[in-house]
Amino acid sequence: MRKQALVIGSGPSGLMAADRLSAAGISVTIAEAKPSAGRKFLMAGKSGLNLTKDETFETFQQAYWGRQSLLTPILGTFQSKDVTAWADGLGAETFVGSTKRVFPKVMKASPLLRSWLARLSDQGVTLRTRWRWAGGDGRTFAFETPEGTQELCPDVTILALGGASWPRLGSDGAWTAWFAGQKIPLAPFTPCNVAVRIDWSSHMSTQFGKPLKSVTFLTNARRVRGEAVISAKGLEGSGIYEITRDLRQNKDLKIDLLPDWSLNKIITALNKPKGKDSQSTFWRKALKLGPEKQSLLHEFARPLPKDAEELAKLIKNLPVLHEGLRPIEEAISTGGGVSFDALDETLMIKSMPGVFCVGEMLDWEAPTGGYLISAALATGRWAGTKAIEYLQHQTH
Ligand SMILES: Cc1cc2nc3c(=O)[nH]c(=O)nc-3n(C[C@H](O)[C@H](O)[C@H](O)COP(=O)(O)OP(=O)(O)OC[C@H]3O[C@@H](n4cnc5c(N)ncnc54)[C@H](O)[C@@H]3O)c2cc1C
Repeated sequence: MRKQALVIGSGPSGLMAADRLSAAGISVTIAEAKPSAGRKFLMAGKSGLNLTKDETFETFQQAYWGRQSLLTPILGTFQSKDVTAWADGLGAETFVGSTKRVFPKVMKASPLLRSWLARLSDQGVTLRTRWRWAGGDGRTFAFETPEGTQELCPDVTILALGGASWPRLGSDGAWTAWFAGQKIPLAPFTPCNVAVRIDWSSHMSTQFGKPLKSVTFLTNARRVRGEAVISAKGLEGSGIYEITRDLRQNKDLKIDLLPDWSLNKIITALNKPKGKDSQSTFWRKALKLGPEKQSLLHEFARPLPKDAEELAKLIKNLPVLHEGLRPIEEAISTGGGVSFDALDETLMIKSMPGVFCVGEMLDWEAPTGGYLISAALATGRWAGTKAIEYLQHQTH
């Protein structure tokens, strides 16, 4: 009789595990709580679907925080070139953007997801939607479904339940209650890749939606060159996302508005005759300081000093008065989840033979840049492969 595999969760990590298992001839059922598959993956497609980053593996793997020693070998088996080849294989031709981020040419997820689901269906995978996993003992798994409670008793199970951000897309973190009940070690969820909350004065509303380009964010730990968007909620965007981990530990945030200019160069420019220009025109001409940067200066440092050196120091080191990070529900991803201490190197739960965990539900985190989907795919593929090996051992 064919071996039965159960995959719970239809994000990229679960689909990759299902792909691997079904390609090996194993009968796979995917159970998904939502009415359709891969909702967060589709949402990621709304911003272009950054699948991975075209950089050396040495650089790539350094983007991941958490238990790197366990994650790195897994990432090594499915590197960025493999992600690109996988997308290509599903008909989603990719391109490398200016920041080395890799996207499908169509800049959305739906065609890729459609062709992936078609492939899985061809490989005999059964997708059960509106099946919410509601517990069990690790051998039997119970689901709330429109037809009432259903139970499955598979030979192997892959849990691919996601993190706890954007809960309306399905990944609500509710699964942690079952893990806690089974005494499986968990790290608390934390918001990752999330905006910084700023209660702006009314003057700032004209700047909402404007990009803040070529700045450096200074935290207690690091200087990060990047970009952000000024929004009604605060500051968001890749430069901010990259420092959310630092800000969780220490709130201090400063911005260097002109990172390519030395202090002396700014002082010299500020001391030039202003002529008939207004202050803002003069700053724009002499310093190339656009309206969004000038607005931030006024917002955080009003009244501004008259002295050129004092003003230059502020431009290089502007303190950002913020209220901390926006809530986890708004984060692109979450840190925390199933501790690697709970798992062996195959990603199987040590205390629960035959049950594996993959994707964002594991306790690692990374900035945006394609690292999130890449790790979801790599861990899903790894656990799928290891589950096949586990089944082979069981048979012999
Ligand atoms: C707005 C946005 C933009 C993003 N953009 C990018 C990007 O461009 N690049 C990138 O790398 N990453 C991006 N991400 C992050 C990326 O989408 C996730 O990291 C990735 O989807 C995680 O994959 P996963 O398979 O681990 O979990 P998920 O994709 O979260 O899938 C988990 C699945 O499990 C299901 N589930 C949960 N609990 C149950 C249960 N009890 N029973 C049954 N099913 C259950 C959920 O419904 C869900 O379908 C973005 C995220 C957001 C929110």
